[in-house]
Formats: sequence, structure tokens, C-alpha cells
Amino acid sequence: MSARYALAILLLATPLFSRGAALSRPERGIVAAVDARREAAIELLARVVDIPSATENHAGVREVGEIFGAELRALGFETKWVELPGEVNRAGHLVAERKGTKGARILLIGHLDSVLQGEPYRREGSRGYGSGAADMKGGDVVIVEALRALHTEGALEGRQIIVVMTGDEEKPGSPHDVTRAALVDAASRSDVALAFEGYAPGTAVTGRRGICDWRLETTGSQGHSSTIFGEARGSGAIFEASRILSAFHDGLREPYLTYNPGLFLGGTETSLPEGSSGGTATGKHNVVARSAIVEGDLRFLSAAQLARAQEAMRAIVAKNLPKTTATIRFDLNMPSMAPTEGNRALLHALDGVSRDLGTGPMGEHDPSQRGAGDISFVAHLVDGLDGLGALGEQEHAPGEYIELDELPNLIKRTALLIHRLTR
Ligand SMILES: [Zn+2]
Repeated sequence: MSARYALAILLLATPLFSRGAALSRPERGIVAAVDARREAAIELLARVVDIPSATENHAGVREVGEIFGAELRALGFETKWVELPGEVNRAGHLVAERKGTKGARILLIGHLDSVLQGEPYRREGSRGYGSGAADMKGGDVVIVEALRALHTEGALEGRQIIVVMTGDEEKPGSPHDVTRAALVDAASRSDVALAFEGYAPGTAVTGRRGICDWRLETTGSQGHSSTIFGEARGSGAIFEASRILSAFHDGLREPYLTYNPGLFLGGTETSLPEGSSGGTATGKHNVVARSAIVEGDLRFLSAAQLARAQEAMRAIVAKNLPKTTATIRFDLNMPSMAPTEGNRALLHALDGVSRDLGTGPMGEHDPSQRGAGDISFVAHLVDGLDGLGALGEQEHAPGEYIELDELPNLIKRTALLIHRLTR
């Protein structure tokens, strides 16, 4: 039996997680420790929001990493800064680890970078504004403060917990097997991954869709337009590409699968350099097209769904119109986090924690409503939950804020979930 499976069964079967059970004495201690730091947690948030740390701002990303690193060292973690090769052009990652053997081995995933920078912290009533306040410096504060409350109660002793805060979540460096190696290594030594992207009230994320890019190229026999559909000329490259897109449009639909052609060039000559968002096409209305290029993406919830879609697309591509050829190439951009039974068992545990805290039930977030995130890179290795971070609005936009009154509840929920998973 795999560790993941064993954990899932444990979570489902153990009466510790039964609904409505009162908090245990150590759990009440953890909750009190969170309440005692209500203002101090907000001060920590203000400190890191005041450091501009857009993905491109390597010095700022490191500085935020140093602050969280120092906080985690004070809780008994060993920390290191993972450097990335120069050509990757990213700041690197903070990795912090406590060793132990008790209960599930936990991986906590945050990120230090933000999309925008430059809006300093300011508090207005119950809201904390500033670049990255919600996405995800608020989530990082949830991680650190949950661990601090556990530490205060001696509940980190003997537990293996790894914290990875990446420096380039918003714009992951390439290649992913280099820039996500530290994250994958940590996951390969863990049983459970918890990620702290934004919280949607009453839900946690058990599945996130992945992204696969594709490029379709067709050719036709160039010649005078009056000869199209004739034996020598056939249908031309543009009709062939159109046939394929039309068949994709009608023939592939299933829940959580989307596919979108985003750019279409056709004519006598076409050129679309790899990785660019623009190219050229030349042709005339009286010439049968010799070439067409289409680029698009495809979003999927599981590796099986991706494979099924790719197979169906290849079959459509192969049914060429007369005197045309077509090829399609796929490029996996981001793997998916499939909503596994193990992930749902974690959600069940979180639901129990939330009910016991009096903060209500927790349900599954709709996977079609989320983009990809760092947890997707390790979802094949561990059971996981995402969406445990801050409650806020305006992520990736001016006026980003976090709801400060919700912060203690989120910290308590995470702390108790870790506590129950590592008993
Ligand atoms: Zn984020």
C-alpha cells in the first residue's frame, strides 16, 4: 500500500476527524497562540508587502525570502536559498526544513514574487492593501504563523515539515525540470502538499487544470484558384486547417476540457517563429494556399484527459482533404492537479477542522475556475490541497487587498490541519 493511500484511509476512518468533535487541549493552545499574534501577524504582512518583489526584481524576491527565512529559523527550521542557473534569469527559491518521523510528512508551498510591485502597504479598516498582499504574501504569512502557533505548543517536535517558497511562481522560469527541481525534490520526500494561493470562502482546491500548447501546420498544392478542388490542386492549406479546427470545435467537448486556437496564419507563405506571438502571412485571393499555421492551448484536469484529447486531435488531423498534409505538435506547458481520492480525503480533514473551529463546512472548489499553480508540478507525487491562503481581491491588479479579519481563521485552520495530519 502506498503512503498516499494509507493516509487517505487513515483520514477517512479515524474518528479524530469526526464532525463536531470539540477541540483537544493542545488544539485550544494552538488557537490561543494564533489569537495572541493577531496584530503581529499583520505587522509581518506589512513588512513583506512593503518590499517590492515582482518576479523580475530578483533583489526584492530575495529580500522577502530572507525575512521569511529568518522567521522560520526562529521556529527551528534549517533554511537555504536555492540558486538557479544564470540563463534561467530568476531569483531562486527559499527552502526551509524541520526533520522528524511523526505522522504525515508535510510540504507547504508559497511564493515570494508578485505580478505587480510598487503599491506599499496601507491599512483601511479591516483591509490591508498593497502589491502581493493577497497573492501571496498573505498566504506566506498564513504558513509562517501557523507553524509558529504549532511551535509555541511544542507541536512541531519530531515532525518533518518542508516549506518551499518559490521566487518565480507568477512567471515560472524555463525549463521547468530545472526551475521546479527543488519543489519536486521536497515533494518526493513528503506525503502531503498544502499550497497557499488565494482562499475562496468555504472551499479548498482539490484539482487544478493543466495547460498544453499545440501548433498545427498544414500544406496544400499552390496554384490558380480556378483549379481548386480539381484532381491536381485539391483543397489547399487553409481549407485543411479550417476542416481540422471545425472538427475540434464539434468533436472534443467534455467537462473540464477546453481548447482554443489563438492565432491562425494562412496563405502562400507563412512564418510564425517558435515562442513568438506574431508572424507573417502573404497570399492572394486567386491563389490556392500552400501553407497555414495555427497555435492554441488546451486545458485539462488529468493526464488521462489530456491523452484522450491528444489522441482524438491526432485522429482528426490525419484525415486530410485531397492534396493536403497536416501535422500537430503538443508542448506540455503545465501539468494538472487531478482531483484524486487522496486530495478529497485531505479536504474531508480540513472540513472537520473548520467545523470544529466553528467556521463552517469546507467544499470543493470548481476546477474550471482556476488557472495553474505551483502545486500542479508535484500533484503526481503527493496528496494535496490548494487555496489555503489569504482571502482577498484584485490579485494581479492595482488595489490588491487582503481581508485582515479572516487571517486568524485561516491560520488556525492550517495549523490544526497540520497538527491532525502529524499526530
Ligand atoms: Zn499566486
